[in-house]
Amino acid sequence: MTIFDRIIAGQLPASFVYQDDICVAFLDISPMTRGHTLVVPRRSVPTLDLLDAATRAHLFEVVQKVGAAQRKGLGSLAQHLLVNDGKDASQSVPHVHIHVMPRYGGDMLQTVTRMIWHVSTLAIPKRETAARRQAMDRIARKIRDAMSA
Ligand code: AMP
Repeated sequence: MTIFDRIIAGQLPASFVYQDDICVAFLDISPMTRGHTLVVPRRSVPTLDLLDAATRAHLFEVVQKVGAAQRKGLGSLAQHLLVNDGKDASQSVPHVHIHVMPRYGGDMLQTVTRMIWHVSTLAIPKRETAARRQAMDRIARKIRDAMSA
């Protein structure tokens, strides 16, 4: 069982921005940029090639909706899409996920610094605190509201 299976099963907390029968989307616990979201299929497989074509297509539909909602709800201007598609591609959670990382303009230095921080602290478990979760929930709500508007 992956950590994302446990989130999907409600055993671990997450700040959800979207859910349907095929996939969920929630904020990354160690965001590279404000609103960094992961789109994750409910089907627990490590790589995209193990999903059926319809699920892959659906994931990317949701990805573009999340990106649009980040732009509308958070004021971002564009977004990085990233898939580490397998362990040897630096995948740390063996469950397909597409990173949707908003960019805000004029944020190159901050983003690169946070990317380096993100990668170098990936193996360190992130502490769950009420304040941290509330802050994440506030961001998630903005994306969620923009998505359903
Ligand atoms: P990757 O390195 O592409 O496998 O990305 C895995 C991502 O999952 C990283 O960006 C982590 O910060 C993120 N992550 C790990 N645990 C959690 C969690 N409990 N909730 C949200 N995101 C998580």
